Amino acid sequence: MEELFATDKTRDLLPRITSFLVKEIYPLENADSLTGKFSKVAEILDQKRGLVKKLGLWGLQHTKEEGGHGLTLCEFGQVSEVLATTPFGHYTFNCQAPDIGNMELIGKYASQAIKDEYLHPLIEGKIRSCFSMTEPDYAGSNPVNMGTTAVREGDEYVINGRKWFTSSADGAAFAVVMAVTNPGAAPHKRASQIIVPTNTKGFKIERNISIMGDSSDHWASHAEVTYTDVRVPLSNLIAAEGMGFILAQERLGPGRIHHCMRWIGIAERCFDLMCKRAATRDMGDGTMLGEKQIVQFWIAESRAEIDAARLMVLRTADNIDKFGASAVRNQISEIKFFSAKIMLDVIDRAIQVHGAYGITDDLLLSFWYRHERGARIYDGADEVHKSALARSILAGYGLETKKKRG
Ligand SMILES: Cc1cc2nc3c(=O)[nH]c(=O)nc-3n(C[C@H](O)[C@H](O)[C@H](O)COP(=O)(O)OP(=O)(O)OC[C@H]3O[C@@H](n4cnc5c(N)ncnc54)[C@H](O)[C@@H]3O)c2cc1C
Repeated sequence: MEELFATDKTRDLLPRITSFLVKEIYPLENADSLTGKFSKVAEILDQKRGLVKKLGLWGLQHTKEEGGHGLTLCEFGQVSEVLATTPFGHYTFNCQAPDIGNMELIGKYASQAIKDEYLHPLIEGKIRSCFSMTEPDYAGSNPVNMGTTAVREGDEYVINGRKWFTSSADGAAFAVVMAVTNPGAAPHKRASQIIVPTNTKGFKIERNISIMGDSSDHWASHAEVTYTDVRVPLSNLIAAEGMGFILAQERLGPGRIHHCMRWIGIAERCFDLMCKRAATRDMGDGTMLGEKQIVQFWIAESRAEIDAARLMVLRTADNIDKFGASAVRNQISEIKFFSAKIMLDVIDRAIQVHGAYGITDDLLLSFWYRHERGARIYDGADEVHKSALARSILAGYGLETKKKRG
C-alpha cells in the first residue's frame, strides 16, 4: 500500500479485499486452473462472486448512483493492484477488462435504452462483453486504417469485416465494434462504435487464438471474429457517428491506470515469491540463495522499480482525477511502457531465482510469463508511447516532426 495516496476508503477496503483473496482465491491457484480452460475455474469463481456481493465489495469501480463505492481513479487503482495479485482477482470482483472499459463507456456515452438493456446486467455480472477494434489485415498501431464497415440501410447498420484479438468474445453477450461509417470524413472521424449482440446473424467466432500454447476460453480468450452482413438497429450506435476514435481515447485514459496498477500487483506478488525462495533455498554449501550478490541486486532493483512505478502511476491517476486525461497525456505514455517493462523484468528475475521450478505450472510465474508478454503490445505498443512522449518533449525544444511539417 502506498500511504502517500491512501484515503479512508482505501484504508478500509484494501485489507478486506486482501484477506478475501488470500482465504478464498489464492487456494484456487494450481497447475490445473492455471493451464486448463478458464470456464472450469469460472464455475467456482462465480460462486465466489456471490460472497463478494455479500461482503459489500461488489462494483468497486462504480459511482454511488450505480451502486458502487464512488472511488476516485487513484483509489480504484490501488484496489486494482491488490486484485491483480492473483490471476482470478479482477474477474471475481467484476472489474475485469474489457467489461470495465465497456461499462465506463456505455455509462458515459450511450443512450438510456442501451444502458437499460446492456449496462445494468453488466454491472450485476449477469453478462459479459468484448471490444472489437483490431484487425489482422491492418496495423492496429494506426487504427484509422480499418477494413470493417457499417453501412446505413433503412433503420439498420449492415456491418462487414474481420477482427482479431477481440478479448473475451467467447461467451460474451455483446461486442462494441469499431467500424467505418463515414469513409469520406477526415481519418480520425471515419469510425464509430456500435453495439452488436453476439447472437446476431452473421456474427461468428472463427477461433479462440492460441497464444503461447494456450487458447483457453470464456473470459480468458482472444477471438478472431467475422462480421458478415450483420444487421443492427441504428440506435445501437454509441454517442454519434464519427466519434469512434474519440471514445477509444476516452476509454484508454482510465484504462491505462487499471492495466498499470494490475501489472504492479503482479510484479509485487512475483517479488514476494522471489524473496521467499531466495531466503529459503539452501545452496548446499552453507549459504542460502539470497546471499548471492546477483540475487540481492535483483531483489534491490525490483523493489526500487516497483516502488517507482507505483508512485508514477498513482501520481498520474491523481492528476487524471484532478485535471482530466488529456492534460496528462505524457504521463499516461510514461507509465504505460515503464510499468509493463518493470513487471516483465520482475517476472523474469523471479523465474530465474526459482531455477527449473520457476518455469513449472506449479507456480504462478510461468502463467504470467506467458500471459503478460502482451503488455508491451496492447493499449499502444511501447514504441508508440515512447515516440509520442519524445515528440512532445522535443516540441518544447522547438523541434517540429516531419508528420507536423506535412
Ligand atoms: C493480449 C492482447 C489483448 C488484446 N485485446 C484486444 C481487444 O480486446 N480488442 C481489440 O480490439 N484489440 C485487442 N488487442 C490488440 C491490440 O490493441 C493490438 O495488438 C495493438 O494495437 C497493436 O496492433 P498490431 O498488433 O496490429 O501491431 P502493429 O500495429 O502491426 O505493430 C507491430 C509492432 O510495430 C511496432 N510499432 C508500431 N508503431 C510504431 C511506431 N510508431 N514506432 C515504432 N515502432 C512501432 C511495435 O513494436 C509494434 O509491436 C489485444 C492485443 C493483445 C496482445
